[in-house]
Formats: sequence, C-alpha cells, structure tokens
Amino acid sequence: MLWQALRRLFGRRPSPSVDIPRDAWSALCREQPELVDLTADEVERLRQLAGRFLAGRPFYAAGGMELTDAAQLRIAALAVLPVLALGLDWLEAIRSVVIYPDAFEVDHEEMDEAGVVHEVRDLRAGEAWSHGTLVLSWADIEAGLDPEVATSVVVHEIAHFIDGANGAENGFPPLGKGQDRRRWTADFQSAFERLNDALDADREPPIDPYAATNPAEFFAVLSEYFFRLPEELVHFDAGLYRHLATFYGQDPLHRRDAPAAVKSALDV
Ligand code: ZN
Repeated sequence: MLWQALRRLFGRRPSPSVDIPRDAWSALCREQPELVDLTADEVERLRQLAGRFLAGRPFYAAGGMELTDAAQLRIAALAVLPVLALGLDWLEAIRSVVIYPDAFEVDHEEMDEAGVVHEVRDLRAGEAWSHGTLVLSWADIEAGLDPEVATSVVVHEIAHFIDGANGAENGFPPLGKGQDRRRWTADFQSAFERLNDALDADREPPIDPYAATNPAEFFAVLSEYFFRLPEELVHFDAGLYRHLATFYGQDPLHRRDAPAAVKSALDV
C-alpha cells in the first residue's frame, strides 16, 4: 500500500500506547493457555504490542456486556499473539472491537446444494467484518481459559484479518519472502480435501470439523490449533505446522515441553 511505503520513507510518529502494568500482565499470561509458554522476552514484547493495540482502536460493549479493563487486556493479549513476530501493521485493518457477553446472532445468506440462497440466522462466537470490526463473545473467550478447550476465538478471528490482508479471505494470506506459494497451496489443499474425505466417509475428524467449511475457515481453525494445541496440529499434518511456523515466525511446539516423539515428527 502506498501510504505504508510513504510512512516507511518519512518515518513514523511514535504510536500511542497504553502502559499495561507488568504484574497484571504476567498474571494474565500465566493463566492463558496460548500464552503460558512464552519466554520472558516474548511476554514483554506482547505487552508492548497489546498496549499499542488497545490505544489504537475503541472497544465497545454490546448486548449488556460489562467491559472491564481485565477483559480488554485479555482480548488484546490474544489479538496480538499471532503478530508477535509479524508486527502490529498486520492488524491495521481492525478499526474497532465489539464485545458481547455471549454468543450473538448474525443474519447471513447461505446457498443450499440446489443453489438456492436462503436468509439464515446463526449464533456466532466471533466475526471479522470486512470494514474492520472485530466482534467477539466474552463467554467464549472465558471458556478458553480451560486448557482442554480446543477453540481460541480471538486467534480465529485475527487469522481471518491476516488472511484478508491481500484482499480476499481464502486461506491464502500474503506469504513472506522465501515461502513457496505453490507448495503452500498444494499442501493446504490436499489436507483440506483429506479432512473433507474423512467427514464424507463418517470417520472421526482429526481436527474440529468446522475447518472443513471452506479454505478460509481451514486456515483460521488451523491457526487456533497452531497457537493452542500445536501437538494436535503436528499429528494432523506436520507439513502444515511447518508452513504456519514459517509464516507466523513462531514455533509454539518448541516453546513447550512437548513429547520428543511429537517434535521428531517435524524433523522428517
Ligand atoms: Zn471463521
């Protein structure tokens, strides 16, 4: 984007930032499963990114939500985790954050197998609106404090914004230098088909079957696994774990004390 190039050329004004108290921050990181294995340096970098994320956009409460500082901190922490290495510019498209106390209703259009479009109303835990609003259910974020829960609603919606940074949410985000676009496409496509084949054959899906909805949901759900349950992603497909580790510039599996057998699956 032109303005990004200009800003690089002429320097940037220091961006506004909220100074998050370090004690509250480390307590939050210790109890949130996605953050518990971060190193001290990563926790500090995350704190700085979250401070800028909070200062850079309004947070709105909806549907009777009581929005506390602690809730905003937790949302900011999870929102900036995927861009810990990529940088906050990747979240520039997010202009505001709206939080509901619980899952919220969304009207949308859905095409049936005969090609007929229906108006349907669904319950959602999160949405990434194309004009830059991140919408979240607080109950679903709180449920994520349980390490047994596989979903990470904030990471999921942030992955959609990252995916859409090149104009389309299609499971193909703008890749970094040295990442092979053809291999990315081929590897994601074949794993997506493998998951759909398992579901068509009524076999137990190795990951959340919502990932089989379309390639954009596949990328978002795999990103949840990458940050939250990296061992399970390696079990499903070690090659996709490697793609995501290169793309996000992070290696969550090696941050934690994962069994050697899981780690060695990545070395082949
Ligand atoms: Zn989604």
